[in-house]
Amino acid sequence: MLTEELPKTYDFASVEKRWLDQWDDSDFYFEKSSKKPQYVIDTPPPYPTGKLHIGHALNWVYMDIIARYKRMTGFNVMFPQGWDCHGLPTEVKVEETHHITKNDVSREEFRKMCRELTIENITRMRQSLRTMGFSVDWSNEYITMEPYYYAKTQLSFLRMLKAGYIYQDEHPVNFCTRCETAIAFAEVSYYDGETLLNFFDFDGVEIATTRPELLAACVGVAVHPDDERYKSLVGKTLRVPIFGHDVVIIADDAVDMTFGSGAVMICTFGDKTDVFWWKKHHLPLRKALTTKGTMTSICGKYEGMPSKECRAAILADMKELGILKDQKKIEQRVGGCWRCKTPIEILSERQWFVKVNGGEIVKAAREVKWYPEHMLQRLENWAEQMEWDWCISRQRLFATPIPVWFCDKCGELILPDEADLPVDPTIEKPKHACPKCGGTEFTGEKDVLDTWMDSSITDLHVTGWDGSGRPPYFPAQIRPQGHDIIRTWAFYTILRSVALLGEKPWDGILINGMVLGEDGFKMSKSRDNVIGPEDVMGPYGVDALRQWAASGSSTGQDILFNWNDVVAASRFQTKMWNIVRFSLMQIKKESPVPESDAPSTLIDRWMLANLSKTISEVTGAMEDYLFDKGLKTIRDFAWNVMADEYLEFVKGRLYSEEPSRAGAVYTLKTTLDALCTMLSPYIPFFAQECYHHLSDGKRIIDHPWTTFSYVDEDALRDGDLIVNIVSLLRKYKHDSGLALNAPLGNVTIYTPSHDIDDSGDLGRTVNAEVVWKAEEQALEKKVGEVVFNKSVVGKTLRNKAGAFMTAVNSLSDADKITPPASILIDGEEIGIPDGAWTTSYIYSVSGESVDVIMLDNVMITIKRT
Ligand SMILES: [Zn+2]
Ligand SMILES: [Zn+2]
Repeated sequence: MLTEELPKTYDFASVEKRWLDQWDDSDFYFEKSSKKPQYVIDTPPPYPTGKLHIGHALNWVYMDIIARYKRMTGFNVMFPQGWDCHGLPTEVKVEETHHITKNDVSREEFRKMCRELTIENITRMRQSLRTMGFSVDWSNEYITMEPYYYAKTQLSFLRMLKAGYIYQDEHPVNFCTRCETAIAFAEVSYYDGETLLNFFDFDGVEIATTRPELLAACVGVAVHPDDERYKSLVGKTLRVPIFGHDVVIIADDAVDMTFGSGAVMICTFGDKTDVFWWKKHHLPLRKALTTKGTMTSICGKYEGMPSKECRAAILADMKELGILKDQKKIEQRVGGCWRCKTPIEILSERQWFVKVNGGEIVKAAREVKWYPEHMLQRLENWAEQMEWDWCISRQRLFATPIPVWFCDKCGELILPDEADLPVDPTIEKPKHACPKCGGTEFTGEKDVLDTWMDSSITDLHVTGWDGSGRPPYFPAQIRPQGHDIIRTWAFYTILRSVALLGEKPWDGILINGMVLGEDGFKMSKSRDNVIGPEDVMGPYGVDALRQWAASGSSTGQDILFNWNDVVAASRFQTKMWNIVRFSLMQIKKESPVPESDAPSTLIDRWMLANLSKTISEVTGAMEDYLFDKGLKTIRDFAWNVMADEYLEFVKGRLYSEEPSRAGAVYTLKTTLDALCTMLSPYIPFFAQECYHHLSDGKRIIDHPWTTFSYVDEDALRDGDLIVNIVSLLRKYKHDSGLALNAPLGNVTIYTPSHDIDDSGDLGRTVNAEVVWKAEEQALEKKVGEVVFNKSVVGKTLRNKAGAFMTAVNSLSDADKITPPASILIDGEEIGIPDGAWTTSYIYSVSGESVDVIMLDNVMITIKRT
């Protein structure tokens, strides 16, 4: 039997808790032996900060909608949950929490502290993901700091090293001297700043520089080959002030003759142009900065000073020597560390690199279907502007170790056996003597891998890569991710997939936007515009949060957080609950509910044809990952078509004992089942609660996606006509001062082209005796009363107004309709003012007078009782 009457209000808190307690993890496991087609989602592993932010909620809602929809459409879905553990933020947090720096404790001790913090944070975030009802496949959880995962990172490193994709080199790289590590280009974030441009006398040539502290690293002066001022100097040397070493003057087209004096100092390295000239002109290398950002021994008396202090000291010394000529403020784009904003330096150090072949990556990226399509452009642009290879070594601790040693005797690079992975070369030793010299003393590589080296193989990991061949589930079907990490995560993943398997990593990539604060700015504590998922879930529930995320914007667009959207989501649930509650009471009265009767009543057929249209629209939106469109279509249908129109029509029939009642019940039940199904990827708790009551305790997750189809063009056309007639008759009642439920009298509807049988629904809806006639009806039309516009008549005719009105009333019908220019009153010709009256018509059918409403070629006559 169907369950009891539903409570009046929907209590999201108790419903959400009840279903969370009953759902089982195993409901969402990917089945290895399944015969169903696979649908593997290469989910983004969040950084375990301990807290999910609203952007995560958006991203996970998208993924959960996909996962649930794909399961319902017959796929074997893998929705894994990963954790991208390694990296600086955790190291910094550990340093803060324990009031230490990484150098105060042993390498192992520090890594252990990072690990413990990470586990705590993951535990908290796991709980949040569960609370939000995400149907994660916990049997496919992965944690990148665990040996089973980073062994794969190391394996991928070795494979790419052997294939010539990875090399080590002393090469200029972006470096954060606060974090004391190299960083990749993708990790440099740019901002606007102001700095001083200093003009000084450089052995007789005026030079302008923003980096006087790098004077010790000066290795040349560049001028433009066409610059008449310096032509004779090219190839000669200049003596560097203060430091006294000689540098050569080179000519290069890239010099801007109009900047400063047109002569530029080349230092190793002030910026990317310096690197370019240094390489092109084979200049020597002079390192003025240590990896800690202090001055090196070549800086003489400035050695050991932090660079900022050195800058001030050198400028003071230049002033004293009388060589500082001028200073002026200029604006500057500054590249900073993504993590700590410290301006990056370019330092030449021995590092490990991955070769970047932009063409190869773009080619694979084009074989992936991008949602939305234009996001591909971002990757292409990035690939085009890549000038340097990807620097993958980091001088940190909490990361995947680079699994190599160096022979102490001959320097040979020693690799571990793949079977021995993972290894930490700072603790373990090679199993064999040096193949080159037989030496047995080794030094392990202390550098570790960039975290993106872990996370760019998530796709390989979830598809089952172990190095033994093509992974069993490769490629994944979809990669969902934010547009902010296209140039990192998407780019590197494609690079690695191409390098290791020679193919694109996924069939499709779905890009989500960022969530902005209510004020339109990026959420930040300093702006006080941060809203967390819990702020929404607390007062409105998980499903309202999920609806907000799904409906906020089209996929790929940024979303402005807006409380109105949350309130609208919550209202929709209230409305839906009322629909279900009312319908359920009606369905319960009909026992058993007819299962497959094709309803014969017009408005039922109209409803089912609309439902069928809605289902195919929603299904199309789901297939294209247009979640906002899908949800909007469902909401519009439920609210407008079902609640405002259909239920109003069938109420009368449902309260009656007529045999056509069963058709209405069948239609209600069919529609609600389909609505629960379509809503369940969006609002699984609400859909489950409704379906539980409608289905005698069944689970919506066991229900396949609805394929209900009902095509009936005639019903759509005639039903729409009835809907329009109802709204016209309601307006008529309103204009005539009748209550909406007051009896209206006899309504005859003339539909000249065809017969319509509404089974009495229209009459019951507007409380009238309705007759349909498939014929054209001749209408007698007479001019009725003249209605004077008193203000016009009174104002222009004053004391003659009375006589005027009498005269008008005795005009012919034709003159009443089209007034003459003047009228005779007591023998005097008076001009008729504009708008003095309007004329109404009296209609009658077969001599009986009626009110008439026309709707295209359909005529509605009303004979009031
Ligand atoms: Zn930094
Ligand atoms: Zn050796």
